[in-house]
Amino acid sequence: MKIIRTVGEMQAFSDEARARGKRIGFTPTMGYLHEGHLSLVRASKADNDLTVASIYVNPTQFGPTEDLEKYPRDLARDQELLEHEGCEALFYPDNESMYPPGFQTELRVKSITDHLCGASRPWHFPGVALIVAKLFNMVKPHRAYFGQKDYQQARVIRRMVIDLNFDLEVVVCPIVRETDGLAMSSRNAYLSDEEREQAIVLSQALEEANEMYREGERDALKLKNRISLTIQRAPLAKIDYCEVVDGETIQPIERVEGTGVAALAVFFGKTRLIDNHILGEPWNLSP
Ligand code: AMP
Repeated sequence: MKIIRTVGEMQAFSDEARARGKRIGFTPTMGYLHEGHLSLVRASKADNDLTVASIYVNPTQFGPTEDLEKYPRDLARDQELLEHEGCEALFYPDNESMYPPGFQTELRVKSITDHLCGASRPWHFPGVALIVAKLFNMVKPHRAYFGQKDYQQARVIRRMVIDLNFDLEVVVCPIVRETDGLAMSSRNAYLSDEEREQAIVLSQALEEANEMYREGERDALKLKNRISLTIQRAPLAKIDYCEVVDGETIQPIERVEGTGVAALAVFFGKTRLIDNHILGEPWNLSP
């Protein structure tokens, strides 16, 4: 696997691959890789000639009091995991290459970001959209792979790709869960044993709401109430939000008519976990 540190080298790698007629698949990550990330790499490997993964903990998507500094990092292990998957290149840029002196540009995707994480962390999606747009211009992929774990993020990226005419396809892959249902996340590493045990209420709550939906419940408030009651069974859980939204527009709804998504963000101590489920879809423990 080729390790690429500079923007110029990354662009040259992709230009050369494209000139040879190769299709490039791209998986952007913040590292500390787990099976969720690797499922994206595998999907990219299956669909494309070359797979590029990136690891970059992007400062502009973190708030001033968030976990940027202590975000878990283990490059050697990540490198090994990517090699094992047969990833062709790892792009691992530094802050100076991504935000050189004089950097001025901002990027905002509107109404999709009004609710859920966009409301709780208003700085987050402008940072995500900006870094992903930059990475697309550096890696020049034909397809880019994102996880449904970050449902709102995937919608933001899809919208941005359409609005800014990026010539690539966005592929969204299913959520990979631990055997007890907890959605895999690099941030799970922060949880104490007790918090980790209680964190299973998140997927349980979503699974219960999904079951209610499958039995015919369409009232979003009732679905939401079930989710929050289940989460409140965990004494260490503090709900940031718990919502049922339209899967396209990410606006809250009263009744689930089209695609409804139940989404939540919950704190365990300082650790903020997110999860979601597309209502009516089968509940998979792992793909
Ligand atoms: P991150 O490193 O957290 O920025 O995540 C990088 C990519 O991996 C994003 O597209 C995430 O949605 C995706 N991802 C993270 N966790 C999971 C998971 N449990 N299942 C599927 N995809 C995931």
